[in-house]
Amino acid sequence: MIENTVDVIIIGGGVLGCAIARSLAAQRRNVMLLEKEPDVGLHASGRNSGIVHSGFHQKPGSLAARLCVEGSHAIRKYAESRRIPYEQVGTYVVASDKSHVAMLEDLKGRGDRNGVQDLQIIPVSRAKANEPSLHGHAVLYSPTGAIIDSRALTKALANDALRSGAHIRYWQEVVNIDERPDAVYVSTRDARYRAEIVVNCAGVHADRLAHGMGVGEDYVLVPLRGIYFTVTRSGPPLIQSIVYPFQDCASPFFGVHVAPTVNGAVLVGPGAVPVFDREAYHSISHHFTVMAQLASQRAVWKAVFQNRELLRLGWKSDTHSVTKQYFWKEACRVVEGLEFEDLSLGSRVGIYPQLIQTDGQFIDDLVIESTERSIHVLNMIAPGMTCALSFAKWLTDRMQGAGQGVKFKTPSLASVS
Ligand SMILES: Cc1cc2nc3c(=O)[nH]c(=O)nc-3n(C[C@H](O)[C@H](O)[C@H](O)COP(=O)(O)OP(=O)(O)OC[C@H]3O[C@@H](n4cnc5c(N)ncnc54)[C@H](O)[C@@H]3O)c2cc1C
Repeated sequence: MIENTVDVIIIGGGVLGCAIARSLAAQRRNVMLLEKEPDVGLHASGRNSGIVHSGFHQKPGSLAARLCVEGSHAIRKYAESRRIPYEQVGTYVVASDKSHVAMLEDLKGRGDRNGVQDLQIIPVSRAKANEPSLHGHAVLYSPTGAIIDSRALTKALANDALRSGAHIRYWQEVVNIDERPDAVYVSTRDARYRAEIVVNCAGVHADRLAHGMGVGEDYVLVPLRGIYFTVTRSGPPLIQSIVYPFQDCASPFFGVHVAPTVNGAVLVGPGAVPVFDREAYHSISHHFTVMAQLASQRAVWKAVFQNRELLRLGWKSDTHSVTKQYFWKEACRVVEGLEFEDLSLGSRVGIYPQLIQTDGQFIDDLVIESTERSIHVLNMIAPGMTCALSFAKWLTDRMQGAGQGVKFKTPSLASVS
């Protein structure tokens, strides 16, 4: 039974799906967002660090770099207009090792090329005037770094979309997409929808829906689980800005950071450990799930074993990363005065949908693949929340007249202006 016919179906009520629904609805497109949960923002979009990135980590020329810089400005304006908890607290990247000091220049160079404003490299002794707990030799300081309530952002976008006439259906898990010349048919467990075009923003499940249509088969998705510890000591907060360790630019990870939240907590995390259960939020039960799923995950294992970075992370999952000791040591590389007893395991856990090419290479840019009537957002890793508004604009600008076919093939998208 075909329940509904609309212009565009969006799968997934994370920050991206909601931002895209809002943009399309504002263009008077008839939009239906299908979400498998009872609310929006219950997965990565409500479980992240809430950091609005400035855009100096991203590779110059990449789509991620451009969208991150544009997105951080857009998010600030949006948060102000919707009164979403947001604070521009600034970001420090700390060279805790002397050999990293010169490399901060490379990071600053990246940021300058990406158009990030007002980056400075300063000795830690000077930076301590603003952030007394910093520990290391020198820092890259970015005044535009900010924090936001990511779940509130997602809900505000969804509400905007609804106000502009979009429909949101909860408890609608999409199980099949059938593309035909005249339309695309999207089936959930209890309904069938017809649309001109479908946009797959299903986060950590997006690859499965894409693969079901023969799209994105050059990639395997490795879910990476990130846990957080919270600083629970009493007294003044340990830090008031976002503090990252310096990481080699070649690494796709930002490292364990120490960052405030808009609710006044200070987080240490998130780490990134490969898991095979895409929603393994609770404890380490994923190890048992791994055993059950191994047979069907051969391609993932191939990528894991070809990729030394993942192997290193996998090793850490069983040795250090799930322990408090590891997070405490990582935090002590960049801040001082944090006692081991000051850390408690937090309830926040997020899972990154990290894409890896079948030859084992990490993908560090957005990946968007398409067919005539479907668009699949496949690698929306951090800082995907920061990019949400700029990405929605970028995508919907290109969807004008969609239904005639939007051809995206990435990572070559970087050249699309
Ligand atoms: C630990 C962690 C920390 C992060 N920190 C930051 C940060 O500080 N700053 C930043 O900018 N970014 C950060 N990110 C990245 C950011 O959170 C994500 O890029 C962003 O939330 C992705 O949004 P999304 O809408 O694509 O995915 P999601 O939020 O995962 O939403 C996908 C939605 O699709 C739904 N869905 C899935 N399958 C189906 C289906 N078959 N049918 C219907 N619905 C379906 C899900 O229920 C979910 O609601 C972090 C990510 C993680 C994991």
